[in-house]
Amino acid sequence: MINKTYKILITGGAGFIGSNLCEYFLAKGHQVVCLDNFATGHLHNITSFLENKHFTLLEGDIRSLETCKQAVKEVDYVLHQAALGSVPRSLKDPITTNEVNVSGFLNMLVASRDAKVKRFIYAASSSTYGDSENLPKVEDAIGKPLSPYAITKYVNELYAEIFSKTYGIETIGLRYFNVFGRKQDPNGAYAAVIPLFVKQFMNHESPVINGDGNYSRDFTYIDNVIQMNELAMLTENPEAVNTVYNTAYGDRTTLTQLVELLKDNLALFDSKIADIKVIYGPNRAGDIPHSLASIEKAQSKLGYKPKYSIEQGIKEAVSWYFYNLK
Ligand code: NAD
Repeated sequence: MINKTYKILITGGAGFIGSNLCEYFLAKGHQVVCLDNFATGHLHNITSFLENKHFTLLEGDIRSLETCKQAVKEVDYVLHQAALGSVPRSLKDPITTNEVNVSGFLNMLVASRDAKVKRFIYAASSSTYGDSENLPKVEDAIGKPLSPYAITKYVNELYAEIFSKTYGIETIGLRYFNVFGRKQDPNGAYAAVIPLFVKQFMNHESPVINGDGNYSRDFTYIDNVIQMNELAMLTENPEAVNTVYNTAYGDRTTLTQLVELLKDNLALFDSKIADIKVIYGPNRAGDIPHSLASIEKAQSKLGYKPKYSIEQGIKEAVSWYFYNLK
């Protein structure tokens, strides 16, 4: 039996998560439209799809409602990933972060409502748990936001809920927890910790851990995130929509453990990396000590079964970086 195929709009499709989603859904035979302004995404993430007749690249900015309206034409599902990530970036430039992450989000939501898409699935964030000290994090118990970025991601959830209630558009928010894997950008001032450390180790430089190394995170491999997007897109459970889900593995790893894991895996490719020492620096503003997701809601309502632990994910990611990092 041939599975049904759809037209899927992936905003931020030239970024880390978006380009992985493009690749996955193209491989499944769907039509994919990628909307991106290349603010933090890269053409090299999507070059291999440009010749695919099922792939369309729209270079444009979600801050333009007209652009969003063009992008959603005849689209079945929207996977909205476009945003300016990074807590430090939002502390430095809250205005641009708000314009993209809040006004841009609202534009996409309005355009999707007007185009009557089947469902609007969006990248939410674990930063919405803010100062809550509860572990594990359960979807309906959040604290106060700790950064402008966290505010924008929480506002997304509020808008999605109101749009579901008042206009009937189906939405699902996926609160991503520290995603990592192939194609995540190691460069730039706001690089995420895993690609940054990999690049530094590969250059035989010492990575700097913010704090004493005991802070912990629920590091989540990209393929688990892809699985959640697909489940959110295709679920037929009426009780599974118009809500948010933790998107994580459901285990936590300290930064010191992470560094050891990276070193062990990288040393298989370059034995000198085993001897590189790590530097400890001050804690970073807006960072919470620990983060760990409960994935029960995703398991029970969507049937989520994460396939990659951090160990398995790091093994895959390190091998990818070793062969692809330029
Ligand atoms: P990324 O920076 O690699 O991807 C974001 C993409 O959005 C980029 O390609 C960028 O060019 C595009 N973009 C930015 N502003 C735009 C605009 N105005 N118009 C059109 N496109 C624009 O980041 P990512 O890690 O792939 O993150 C994807 C989404 O997931 C974001 O919404 C982010 O907030 C969210 N998220 C990521 C993580 C993580 O650990 N990576 C965690 C929580 C939430």
